[in-house]
Amino acid sequence: MDGSLSQNDLSHVIEADKAHVWHHLTQHKQFETGDPRIIVEGKGLRVWDQTGREHLDAVSGAVWTVNVGYGRKSIVDAISEQLMKLNYFAGAAGSIPGALYAEKLIEKMPGLSRVYYCNSGSEANEKAFKMVRQIAHKRYGGKKHKILYRERDYHGTTIACLSGGGQQERNAQYGPFAPGFVEVPHCLEYRAQWDLSGEAYGQRAADAIEEVILREGPDTVGALCLEPVTAGGGVIVPPPGYWERVQEICRKYDILLHIDEVVCGVGRTGTWFGYQHYGVEPDFVTMAKGVASGYAAIACCVTSERVFDLFKDDASDPMNYFRDISTFGGCTAGPAAALENMRIIEDEDLLGNCTRMGDYMLGRLGELKDKHAVVGDVRGKGLFLGAELVADRESRAPLHEKQVAAVVADVNRQGVIIGMTNRSIPGLNNTLCFAPPLIVTKDDVDEIITAVDNALSRVAV
Ligand code: PLP
Repeated sequence: MDGSLSQNDLSHVIEADKAHVWHHLTQHKQFETGDPRIIVEGKGLRVWDQTGREHLDAVSGAVWTVNVGYGRKSIVDAISEQLMKLNYFAGAAGSIPGALYAEKLIEKMPGLSRVYYCNSGSEANEKAFKMVRQIAHKRYGGKKHKILYRERDYHGTTIACLSGGGQQERNAQYGPFAPGFVEVPHCLEYRAQWDLSGEAYGQRAADAIEEVILREGPDTVGALCLEPVTAGGGVIVPPPGYWERVQEICRKYDILLHIDEVVCGVGRTGTWFGYQHYGVEPDFVTMAKGVASGYAAIACCVTSERVFDLFKDDASDPMNYFRDISTFGGCTAGPAAALENMRIIEDEDLLGNCTRMGDYMLGRLGELKDKHAVVGDVRGKGLFLGAELVADRESRAPLHEKQVAAVVADVNRQGVIIGMTNRSIPGLNNTLCFAPPLIVTKDDVDEIITAVDNALSRVAV
């Protein structure tokens, strides 16, 4: 750490933080009694706090964002050069980085063609929901307006995103919700809802979506919104056969497929986008976290030309366009950062590293499962990985979340930051989460695993 702040300055920062910052996802008691932590600096996948203590960040900035790691001067330079030229312009006018990033992005997404810029994952999902609703009105007299979402998936924090969110604990106390969102069952075989396995399970879980469509009436359902790999809802990798059947069902009933890549997008699972593991052809893809790795706030709602065309078929209608604006969608820092972020991923083969290190880490998590009865299941794709902790392996009774939190705290005390499923599914906040920057090495993985191994040895079941 460079020590540019004096001890007095730092004490002042801590007091100001405690007195005035309303932190995300923090119990209010912790404002008064918790240990304050200010992260002062980052380099690679390490961060330093106000005491000068180093931490290995195995969750890329707490919520899986800093894909290319901290301290990337070339991204900072790209942003700064762009800001000196033009920081902002919104509305119908384009910008140089906005056009160039859209072109680069679309090269990675065959079948899609239009990029709508905004600032957060929630906002990108809202854009897609609004497009679905407008299409329903333009084409189907408002009838085909329902949006299906899946149990345990999360799509953001706004009221519409919570209305289409499958995590009961996140939604609790925020109703009433927007109408027209309908839940379909999750597809986690470890918490099986059907007595099947492998491909048969995948097919059955997808068939359950068709049952909901038939129950609701296919002429009322406009879109299906799914995470490619469910992230905060428990690190759920869909079983084989699932996605193929999902695609078939969407085509059969003319339902638009919206894939929420806010977490998985831009390399997190070892391909540019999570859906690309499964050969599906979405109509909408939303993305945010890894787009600029947190160097700037940028999100995108990407659509097919077919979706775009649905808005331009009747030029005599003055309402015939997507009547939406995102004020800060006109910031140029985002696409400038995103362009450089993409160059880094390509030049450093971070997709390849993600696949190699993800496989290695999954194997090492498997060793922890062999060693500790408390590890019920390990799963993941690329560098989004989870270990579900259980009180009893036979019955799969989940470990109490206080004990899971104690494991996370123990790992943190050893200088490694990991996370857990948090306030998502009642009784099932029991999965440790790992999503290190895509630059992680074998030595880093070993360091993470050693810390988790130590902590699991100390957990009392
Ligand atoms: N979608 C998914 C899958 C997410 O995990 C998140 C946030 O974690 C969001 C959407 C919302 O993104 P944001 O917090 O940028 O609004």
